[in-house]
Amino acid sequence: MSETCSRKTAHGVPFLSPLSLGTQRKLHRVWTSKERVSYNLLMKLTLKTPVRALHMVGPTYAGRLNKLDIDSVGDLLMHPPRRYEDYSRVSPIGSVQNGEVVTIRGQVKTSRNVFTRSHKTIQKIVITDQTGTLKATWFNQPYIPNTLKPGSWVSLAGTAQQFGKGVQFTSPEYEKLSSTDMREKGTTIHTGRLVPVYPETKGVSSKWIRSRIAPLLPLLASELEEWLPESILKQESLVPLPKAIVSLHFPSALSEAKKAWGRLAFEEMVNIQLAVQNRRKSWDRRKLGKKLVIEDSKLNVFLSSLPFRLTQAQRRVTQEVLGDLGQDKPMNRLLQGDVGSGKTVIAAIAIYAAFISGEKSALMAPTEILAMQHLETIKKLLAPFGMRIAMVTSSMKENLTKYDVAIGTHALLYKTVETGSHALVVIDEQHRFGVEQRALLIKKSRTPHILTMTATPIPRTVALTLYGDLDLSILDEMPPGRVRIKTWVIPPHKRESAYRWMRERIKLGEQAFIVCPLIEESTNETMLQVRAATEEFDRLKDKVFPDLALSLLHGRLSSRKKEEEIQKFRKGKTNILVTTPVVEVGIDITNATVMMIEGAERFGLAQLHQLRGRVGRGIKESYCLLFPSNPKTQGLSRLRILGTAKSGGQLAEFDLKLRGPGEIYGTKQHGYVNLKYAELSDTRLIATTQRLAREILEENSKLLKLQSVRTKLSTLEKDIEPN
Ligand code: ADP
Ligand code: MG
Repeated sequence: MSETCSRKTAHGVPFLSPLSLGTQRKLHRVWTSKERVSYNLLMKLTLKTPVRALHMVGPTYAGRLNKLDIDSVGDLLMHPPRRYEDYSRVSPIGSVQNGEVVTIRGQVKTSRNVFTRSHKTIQKIVITDQTGTLKATWFNQPYIPNTLKPGSWVSLAGTAQQFGKGVQFTSPEYEKLSSTDMREKGTTIHTGRLVPVYPETKGVSSKWIRSRIAPLLPLLASELEEWLPESILKQESLVPLPKAIVSLHFPSALSEAKKAWGRLAFEEMVNIQLAVQNRRKSWDRRKLGKKLVIEDSKLNVFLSSLPFRLTQAQRRVTQEVLGDLGQDKPMNRLLQGDVGSGKTVIAAIAIYAAFISGEKSALMAPTEILAMQHLETIKKLLAPFGMRIAMVTSSMKENLTKYDVAIGTHALLYKTVETGSHALVVIDEQHRFGVEQRALLIKKSRTPHILTMTATPIPRTVALTLYGDLDLSILDEMPPGRVRIKTWVIPPHKRESAYRWMRERIKLGEQAFIVCPLIEESTNETMLQVRAATEEFDRLKDKVFPDLALSLLHGRLSSRKKEEEIQKFRKGKTNILVTTPVVEVGIDITNATVMMIEGAERFGLAQLHQLRGRVGRGIKESYCLLFPSNPKTQGLSRLRILGTAKSGGQLAEFDLKLRGPGEIYGTKQHGYVNLKYAELSDTRLIATTQRLAREILEENSKLLKLQSVRTKLSTLEKDIEPN
């Protein structure tokens, strides 16, 4: 707390301000110029105050915090510790035992820096109390002797080690005390208690975070009002929110911390449920843009022209989709089906239905590669019926007008779709399930029918929770004649023979994908990722397969280059396609039979399953080879599950159990929400909060108001904002 600035209030009483001096000065200036505005009001710290306004948080720290998704004071308070270090045992120096994890308090006797020959420094202090003396050392923290001057009071916490006759601490936590602190218990934040340890991030230490959070808690107590009714708190044995937040960071016992986590999990899940149900409600209020009149006879002509018989599941889903399309209110349906389950044809049927009603559609894909593939499929299926198909590319300048269906990436089609001239929008393979896209479309006064398609397997609980605002259709049946993909985990010593084996397959005229490991968790393909793929490509081309034709595919290539590489591979001109994990999303090349995945343990099972789904699209026996980058990781047994699991859905359930909710969609980058406290496997929590959210939305508008004040604490704020 020593870093906190002290100022005099208007009444002359000093108070501690967690605001930076700069902010205080700025406020002070305003105060003197406009005297009517009370100083206290200006100084008011709220949950929305940006962290950069806090004392000791400059732009550098604000940037680092931003990487942790912390922008406001509220975010900071909701930042969960990873664990707690138990320094609650406070002991007189004389009775500290070797190996004991303990806190001692005393007065600094001597303190100095020792300089080593290698230009390093060692900090040595000796501290005493009535029962003995103890030495503590640190390395390369030359400011410590300055802080802990002889005569000052200090609290140290760490593991005591025998040293000669006495015990000593190496790099203990330390905290300066005032003489009052010496008398009172419970005033320390880094020692002498359960101490929160936050997830590590470069340049933001747990000590630093603790020092920022501690002074905020008493100041924000009034802001952190409980908003849930007493009855719910009782029924669910929840601690009130203000208490939960204090105990989250500074619990007096682990049981208290646990209760705090329980309360915050409830908080988080109610917020999600409210957001989802609110989205549903606002969707149901939308007016349909263009009503479709679908003539069965025309539709049947198309259906009977299909090059294959629809599976039972496809027929069921077709009925569900057509049912929606005939309504006066806009469809908002999520079509979930494993890779290769045949979602595209469902989209084609819907697009055709709009066409025979004389209306336009848009088909959005997440990548250009996929958009180009859709173009081919849709052309094949729909061009014979006189449909005009337009591909929207980044190089295109003029406005499209004369077409029946526009195909392109989400990014490119936005503008077109925003004109509101489409009766149907299909959003394909969107990991984030098109939440943002749908949100944009919701804003329009005339809403189109929306069909969102995904291959990402969704566990039932998750679907009910996160997609409660959508109607769900599931393709749970594969088209006939699919071969099972043999999946092997390859240990490092078998790498060479795996390459030899692959060469054999290629000699037989087959083709292979080699997918590079995930480097970073990021929403987009990063430069680092591209570089890694490029290096691996060079290595394979020069050292491993110099005699074969290899090509490289990643998101940073120009669209022309991308198309060129895909076409070369499709036509069999290249044997091996080396790619970043972008290839995951939906490319369909029947002659490819081998999928080799590097750094496999970094992927989620469901995501590996999707990657694997790139092969086995034809009738030839297909293989998936998983190379773990670290053979020692415990992830290996997890990978073996891929050898036996039947469906993506099963794998998603495994991911949920084994890696937690953030990983359901393979990597965090595909995560829909980043849950901090709640677990999606907690079905009871999901059910309870779902019911509560419904009650709040239906009856208790007062609660909702309170809640929307409180949503400041939630990352879902934008979802809940009244529309
Ligand atoms: P996904 O669901 O992964 O998008 P696609 O729509 O790309 O799958 O379909 C995968 C492949 O299966 C395509 O080549 C498609 O032509 C084919 N297909 C789809 N439905 C059937 C069916 N009922 N019978 C046979 N093949 C089908
Ligand atoms: Mg697809």
